Amino acid sequence: MKAAVVHDFRSPLQIEDIPIPEPGIGEIVVKIEASGLCHTDIHAAHGDWPVKPKLPFIPGHEGVGKVARVGPEVTEVKEGDRVAIPWLGYACGTCEYCISGWETLCEKQLNTGYSVDGGYAEYTKACARYVGKVPDKVNSFEAAPLTCAGVTTYKAVKVSGTRPSDLVAIFGIGGLGHVALQYAKIAGAAVVAVDLVEDKLELAKQLGADYTVNARQADPVEAIKQLGGADAAISLAVSPRAFEQAFRSLRRGGRLVFVALPADNSMQLPIFETVLNGIHIIGSIVGTRLDLAEVFELHAAGKTHIIYETRKLEDVNHSFEEIEQGHIPARLVFDMA
Ligand code: NAD
Ligand code: ZN
Ligand code: ZN
Repeated sequence: MKAAVVHDFRSPLQIEDIPIPEPGIGEIVVKIEASGLCHTDIHAAHGDWPVKPKLPFIPGHEGVGKVARVGPEVTEVKEGDRVAIPWLGYACGTCEYCISGWETLCEKQLNTGYSVDGGYAEYTKACARYVGKVPDKVNSFEAAPLTCAGVTTYKAVKVSGTRPSDLVAIFGIGGLGHVALQYAKIAGAAVVAVDLVEDKLELAKQLGADYTVNARQADPVEAIKQLGGADAAISLAVSPRAFEQAFRSLRRGGRLVFVALPADNSMQLPIFETVLNGIHIIGSIVGTRLDLAEVFELHAAGKTHIIYETRKLEDVNHSFEEIEQGHIPARLVFDMA
């Protein structure tokens, strides 16, 4: 089968012909139809984070397709079911995190496209218990971005505690941001979208943002303060500076949700202002299987819109550049057919 493989953190990915994986106990093999490109895949391929993937590996954690083979003892899905393979590829199911609805914090977790091979391939092996079933009403190209960008921002809005009277600031209107703002609207909030690229802000308006700020042209902190300050800010821009601006745009008692994971792993967080203003800082990592099911349910009900363009897997390296230059609308999805 064809797959895009990372061999070292400084070289382009290579398109290779490798054997189709075999399903083990509790595992399935999925024939991938659509595979989303999350900015995390770029971080993974570049070795940007303190914990690095083991080389070589196949990135991708927004792979969607039909179950082609079922290993022994699989009860959750059957051959032909359409499933999505998310970042949370496996969790133990028995630790205190797993049994309290926080499987995303399980210390034994395996991550698709990072610690185990992912969706940049014609076939991907997955643990049957951790895939999401895709409803008939959700096509594979829209299911793919929902599998990470969707579930992650749905969870981020949940943990932000957003209420209908809130002003929510979304920093970064990329793959994640374009869905984040829709979940904040569904929660009833007013939304201010911040990005550096005018086209992204235009898209944000079309998707329901009440206000937009181009951080290249205006100070987002000033602009948001003029609106009364944000009750919640969600940091999705791959830039510590944007995290600092998000912090300063909050009103007293505000909540700042960290989601983006820039290679530069630090920011200035003033202690005095955090304490005196009663600011809450919340880290948020993807979402659970239940969150993903809810994300698909909302999409099947027509409540969210996914903006994407397709690419061929052979164009993976150029696609990474396109994302880094910010020239594409929202998400790129590899068409694996
Ligand atoms: P993306 O590249 O599609 O979007 C990032 C957006 O931020 C772009 O629109 C870009 O123009 C904008 N931006 C960049 N610098 C900015 C600045 N200074 N101010 C305002 N906007 C700015 O990326 P994505 O796929 O949406 O992912 C975003 C980040 O979230 C990545 O770091 C990714 O690794 C991370 N991520 C985290 C989780 C999690 O569970 N915590 C899950 C998925 C992705
Ligand atoms: Zn992702
Ligand atoms: Zn666990």
